Amino acid sequence: MEAYNRYRLQTHAGSFSQLGSGAKCVKYPRTSSYKSIRCAEGSRAKKLPQDVNPKGVFACNELDLKEVQVYGFDYDYTLACYKPSMDYLLYNLGRDMLIKKYKYPEGIANLEYRENFAVRGLHYDIEKGLLLKLDSFLQIQLGAVYRGLHPVPDDEVLRVYKNRIIPIAYVEAPHKHSHNAVHRTKMIQLADLFSVPEMSLLCNVTEYFLQNHIDYHPEILFRDVKNSVQSCHPIMHQLVVENVSEYLEQNKDLRRFFERLHKANKKMFLVTNSPFHFVNKGMQFLVGENWKDYFDVVIVQARKPRFFTEESRPLRIYDEVKQTQLWDRVTKLNKGVVYLEGTVKQLQDITGWRGHQVLYFGDHPYSDLADVTLEHGWRTGAIIKELTHEIETLNDPKFKENANWLQMLTGVIEEHQDYEGAEVQEELGEWMKERDQLRNEIKSVFNKQFGSVFRTYHNPTYFSRRLFRFADIYMSSITNLLEYSTSHTFYPRRGVMPHEYTSYFM
Ligand SMILES: [Mg+2]
Repeated sequence: MEAYNRYRLQTHAGSFSQLGSGAKCVKYPRTSSYKSIRCAEGSRAKKLPQDVNPKGVFACNELDLKEVQVYGFDYDYTLACYKPSMDYLLYNLGRDMLIKKYKYPEGIANLEYRENFAVRGLHYDIEKGLLLKLDSFLQIQLGAVYRGLHPVPDDEVLRVYKNRIIPIAYVEAPHKHSHNAVHRTKMIQLADLFSVPEMSLLCNVTEYFLQNHIDYHPEILFRDVKNSVQSCHPIMHQLVVENVSEYLEQNKDLRRFFERLHKANKKMFLVTNSPFHFVNKGMQFLVGENWKDYFDVVIVQARKPRFFTEESRPLRIYDEVKQTQLWDRVTKLNKGVVYLEGTVKQLQDITGWRGHQVLYFGDHPYSDLADVTLEHGWRTGAIIKELTHEIETLNDPKFKENANWLQMLTGVIEEHQDYEGAEVQEELGEWMKERDQLRNEIKSVFNKQFGSVFRTYHNPTYFSRRLFRFADIYMSSITNLLEYSTSHTFYPRRGVMPHEYTSYFM
């Protein structure tokens, strides 16, 4: 014990003298030791970080916009951002379809959408019927595993999986970035913003089955929920067209953004999976009647990711007047004409747009961005709507203080852990308890159930690892780019590797 106290004395004398305060060291009283450490450590704490710009564009990879001649866009959740009313609409339509078409119990009609229950990027285990969050090492985040609406206790999670780490075959199909993972893996990632209401429906219905002791197969439930919500998309399209301002967030800057690209002589194209009448109405609302004038190529119902992966699936012309598709052979792409289906190969062959001169924006890191960057060398930008809430949380002074203290407390634990003796160990136990509380507090301010979309405690999530791999830049909204010139170069921050200096280059 003496050694330990001497050690603490020395350590802190050392740290104070480093700060030029002399060896003014107090022994920590036993009962409030970690609080005193907090004060003592506070004096050598770093200043709290500056706010993050919510309109920032963040770089994973260096990107020089001078090299970019062609800007491509996805539509839903990239150019068009929806209000929470969209989640309610999809949830309600999907729930009613479950009863009508799949003959689910009438009782589920009373289950309401739970806003902020789930976050994007979670995995659903189709065998075990659990919704959970994985980190970039495929570790389960304990405390973020749900069956229905209830968290599964940690000991049960460990019993069920026998490990905290999930084998890769559970999560990723053997074929590179396979898009049919849904048919081959035991865990399916819900990486799409449209899947957030699906997750809520899935958990509500699971809870209903559990409460009413109704036996069910998690995989069947998953597929029924997914199919019902997806089969409602045409109805959703129609309802949105009829009342576009109810569902779509207005973005006055979008027209200005297109105008600026146009003035800089950039080419622009749109590749979306949605049908023309839906996109047309939304773009008229966002940009104006003449929105198509900005685009050199418009392709709807593209069926991404197949648009990016299939070799042969001809482009077709859409007749806007007759609202039907034509059978003519497409050999050139005309401005003002709307096209359907096709492949990225055809788009590249006809236009000659290739490689790093193309920058494509999407909200789905896999179906929008993975293939174009891995197979075609396009540059990529991800629109991650959740960043608005995440950055708001990061900028909260209380959060900054907690995150800072968590790091310091972890440092203190790391320094002291090898000292023996009951008193030290007891104290370490207290610190660990405080650290756990802090970690949970930091997690729950993002989302009570699942925490941040980007982190599981200190590690990046599975979702963010993939995002950082496939996106050169990412931002909360496409119009954040208005904060930068069209010749701007985005430089990634030089991160610190574990073997490098701790803070000088941060
Ligand atoms: Mg989209």
